[in-house]
Amino acid sequence: MKLTVLGSGSAFSTCGCNAGYLVDGRVLVDCGAPVPALVRRAATSIHAITLVLLTHFHADHSFSLPTVLGARAFADEAAPGALVIGGPVGTREYVARLLGDGYGSYVRHEVDTRVAPEYAVLQDGSDVELAGYRVQSHAVVHSTGPSLAYRLTDAAGASIGFSGDSEMCGGLRRSIAGCDLYVCECTGWDGPTPGGHLWRDEVASLMASNPGTRFLLSHLSARRHLPGALIAHDMLSLEISPDAT
Ligand SMILES: [Zn+2]
Repeated sequence: MKLTVLGSGSAFSTCGCNAGYLVDGRVLVDCGAPVPALVRRAATSIHAITLVLLTHFHADHSFSLPTVLGARAFADEAAPGALVIGGPVGTREYVARLLGDGYGSYVRHEVDTRVAPEYAVLQDGSDVELAGYRVQSHAVVHSTGPSLAYRLTDAAGASIGFSGDSEMCGGLRRSIAGCDLYVCECTGWDGPTPGGHLWRDEVASLMASNPGTRFLLSHLSARRHLPGALIAHDMLSLEISPDAT
């Protein structure tokens, strides 16, 4: 299972693009980074993406999705497979609003007819097969709701978790359990961070509770050091196997 970090920065950070993670070149978790250009640098194509998962409806996690959908709609080559967009309840309406407000009814219509994405509504406790992956969802607490953390497991049993944006809560803890790698937001370094986010000492306590899971810190306001954790940067790629730890 290959993870490529497209965006490692927090919403208003200058140390990295907004959130976006690519799994095996075909699953996109969040879409705040300028994905169409970055997937080419990752030696893949937006046409290879078969599943997009949104953790929540903040701009830094979703505002590039219209460009992904438009690039697929207006490309010369047709995407070989269907595109599924999974996210919290309201995802279909949110994406329609992004497309309409961003580019108007013509582009929204072209996306609807040429890309025709399917939607999967996910919620706390969802455990479904999407695009060949097991996708488990956990409700987390953030400054906007609904917000989800995800765990993706491939056919070989390797698993990567994604916190999305979250403060400390039960859903966040459940989403970490058993993951080989956990992509954990760490917006703050020096003290509690407002807006429903984690900071360094909270992340350190999560790491201590999950010694079998490797942590990759992302959604960064600055790039610092936490012993035992990997620190994300844009275009970082990691290969994850079930026994990676
Ligand atoms: Zn965010």
